[in-house]
Amino acid sequence: MSNVILKRDRDKPVRQRHPWVFSGAIARTNDEPQDGDTVDVLAHDGDWLARGILNRRSQIAVRLLTWDPAEAVDAAFWQRRLARAIDARRRLPALVGASAYRLAFSEADGVPGLVVDRYGPWLAVQFSALAADRWRDVILAALVDQAQPRGIVARDDPEARAREGLLPLDGVLWGESPPARVEIDEDGLTFAVDVLGGQKTGFYLDQRDNRRLIEPYCPGARVLDAFAYTGAFAARAWRGGAAAVTTVESSAEALVLAEENLARNGHGGQTEHVAGNAFSELRAFRAAVQRAGRRFDVVILDPPKFARSASHVERACRGYKDINLLALHLLEPGGVLLTCSCSGLVNADLFQKVVFGAAVDAGRDVQIIAHCAQSADHPELLSFPESAYLKGLLCRVW
Ligand code: SAH
Repeated sequence: MSNVILKRDRDKPVRQRHPWVFSGAIARTNDEPQDGDTVDVLAHDGDWLARGILNRRSQIAVRLLTWDPAEAVDAAFWQRRLARAIDARRRLPALVGASAYRLAFSEADGVPGLVVDRYGPWLAVQFSALAADRWRDVILAALVDQAQPRGIVARDDPEARAREGLLPLDGVLWGESPPARVEIDEDGLTFAVDVLGGQKTGFYLDQRDNRRLIEPYCPGARVLDAFAYTGAFAARAWRGGAAAVTTVESSAEALVLAEENLARNGHGGQTEHVAGNAFSELRAFRAAVQRAGRRFDVVILDPPKFARSASHVERACRGYKDINLLALHLLEPGGVLLTCSCSGLVNADLFQKVVFGAAVDAGRDVQIIAHCAQSADHPELLSFPESAYLKGLLCRVW
């Protein structure tokens, strides 16, 4: 096996089991390994550290898979890792009764570059790094064996694949093609999911726990679900007893599904779906508040990722501040704000500072009543802080 030898003093993250070796940390390789090969990573003094898969086309030159020198990277390795991830989901109390959940979460589950989401009998997979892509057939066979799906669909992550020098990958990889609408159950609510064409792999499974959290705050409430996608929070609000629900969403396709989803869950109340840009729509609502005193009791802000790279963090924070400021202006005193960020580069501390800045500008007292994170089927690996990407604050606003 080829060796990758690190520069002096670049071994610490590897010893601490961070699963990435950046190209800048590498002093040299021996034996001219090819991209996709399994390599042993050695410290500058030759000490064996870990084993991973090489990809010189990526800034993340090695994705580390094991810190056990006796563990080979072969078909059995991927079978074991997937079995471990699947078993952990079976034993997750948060998933009792759930028909849709993340079965494997990349580095955080020891399967770098591989995401597997289950929607009933269908699996949606993303191969976002060469490390997993190189073992695609083995992984698919293991999923067929262990998860017994009717079909496995690849959902492309074109940016991530391009960064790894990989061509796009989309469509049915194994078995039958799922229907245009796959029905899933989340705590007794049913949602139609477009597994083949929806955003991400079709549904924001990572917000399940936060949707659960907001439901009890909704009895009698006028609820604003901003960045609503297919109405998953809105449906919760209805079941929680909301008096009126307004959704705002820029994707007209997503709103069609949101209407279907609310109808399918038998809501009978007053709903307004606004197709548009949340920034301008909330600004218009604020003008209406000033004119007519129309406010909301509960506001949910679940915007898309604003920061895609480190150079975008400042701009992203301005976006978060703007949208939070607007939301604060719209809330009735004593109202509840659930504000989220899924930008991994904006950490929980920074996000809280941004919300604080918005509260100062709005002149409102804001109490944090819960700190929120991604659902339990998207575990955070302690040695890999990058796996913690979704954070939120549940606030009481005076
Ligand atoms: N809350 C949803 C997930 C939201 S994902 C759920 O629980 O399912 C973020 C959503 O914001 C996406 O549906 C995207 O289409 C939408 N979006 C992106 N930019 C927007 C904007 N400027 N205004 C309104 N919606 C936007």
